[in-house]
Order: sequence, then structure tokens, then C-alpha cells
Amino acid sequence: MLQVFSMPCGFLEFDSKLFFPDREKGQMFIIPVPSYLITHPQGNVVFDTGVHCQAITDPFGRLGEVSRMFVSRTKPGEEIVTQLGKFNLTPKDVKYVINSHFHFDHCGGNEFFPSSTILIQKNEMNAARDPALRQKSGFDPKDYDHQLNYKEVDGEYDIFGDGSLVLFPTHGHTLGHQSLRIQVSKGTDVVLTGDACYTKTNMDQNLLPSVAIDRDEMYRSLGKLRDLRDKQGATIIYGHDPDQWKEIPHAPEPLA
Ligand SMILES: [Zn+2]
Repeated sequence: MLQVFSMPCGFLEFDSKLFFPDREKGQMFIIPVPSYLITHPQGNVVFDTGVHCQAITDPFGRLGEVSRMFVSRTKPGEEIVTQLGKFNLTPKDVKYVINSHFHFDHCGGNEFFPSSTILIQKNEMNAARDPALRQKSGFDPKDYDHQLNYKEVDGEYDIFGDGSLVLFPTHGHTLGHQSLRIQVSKGTDVVLTGDACYTKTNMDQNLLPSVAIDRDEMYRSLGKLRDLRDKQGATIIYGHDPDQWKEIPHAPEPLA
């Protein structure tokens, strides 16, 4: 049976103006850094791998200057491998890892998945390979540049070929950002937006955050996600929404 579980893989505190550019500077808030486990009859899938565990004890050593802007509020045990352990799973039990994109809080745990196939959009990998684009995108090769089995996908991609897990491009936040549509059962769709939409407020107010490499493209992606919610009745799980995070069930209780 297909189930979806949300796992807290850390928390970050920073100025909310980064998410909502219309706000005054100086209002700090704390956001969740989620990963998701999807159990599918043909194999387990992890969506995003959170921040690397070293950032818990040595934030500057791991993240450098980024750690001054995003202060880690993560406790030991709130990282992907420990979270999977609560299901009696190890990374070897994970067939596919999806990276929504290559920011540090979405692929920091990649190195622990050497036997999984990691699904990434071709545009994202191209940006990661190009030194200038990599820097502009805010990627750190420490997070993703390991001996790993990356599979580049280009556009929509049906992971198991049964329509239950479909990746789709939501570029703009980064050049190759992707989101995931999960058909939990017929007529019940859950969409994991990743950073294509941080919070419900961003979607409702059509408000882009400061971090957007291509604003026109990000507006298009946000519109696509809003249509899934408002026209197709999908449940949207926003990338880092502290209010929604308080409301939704977390592992071991299934989200869907
Ligand atoms: Zn991001």
C-alpha cells in the first residue's frame, strides 16, 4: 500500500523577509526542513535529504557563511538516517531518492545513499556542473558531489510507470527545481512542492521569495501548483510552512 510520511529533518531560524519580501526586516521565524518517505509496493522513495548532520554540531564548518543567515535549530537525531531508522530502514532500503533541487537543506544527506538512484532534473545537474551557474544558484558541491547514482530526468517523469509518483518541473527557484505529485489513491493527490512554494501565504498572495533565479519561471511554477490545489483538488504540502507543519501528521503517523 502506498503511504506518505513526513519526517522532520531539522529546523532553521532566519529573517522572515527572505520568504516574504514585503515584510519589515528583523522578524525572525523558524521553519521546518522536511523530508518525506513514500512506501510504494515496488520500493521506498525519499523526497529530499535535509541538511547534513555535521551542521548540527558544527554549523559554520559545514555551511560556512550560510550558517550566519540560516541558524540551525536542529537537534541530534533530526536527520535523515536517524529518521529512517525509526521505520527500521537504512539507506540501503531506499530505491529512489528525489532531490527537489540542490540547495543545502534539500540534498545535504545525499552522501548517505550510495546504493539508491537519485532523481534530479537535467537542468539542475547542468547548473551544478557549471562553476558560474553553481555559484549563482547557491549550490555547495559538498552536498551532492559524491560517488552516487544520479539519474537525470528531463521534464515530467513517472517513477514507477503507474502514475502514482510523478515528478514535474517547477523551475524558477533554481534552474531545475522539481516537485512531486503523489496519487495516494484514485482522486486523492498530494503534491510536495519543495521550494517552488515555501508557504501557503506565498501561494495565496502570489508572492515570490527573495531566492529565485528566474522570477518569470517561478511565477509560472507557482501558478501551476495553485491550479493543482484550486482546480484539481490536490492537497499541497508547502516546502517550509511552519503553520502547516504544526497541523499535518508526522511519522510514524502517515500524512496520507
Ligand atoms: Zn531552495
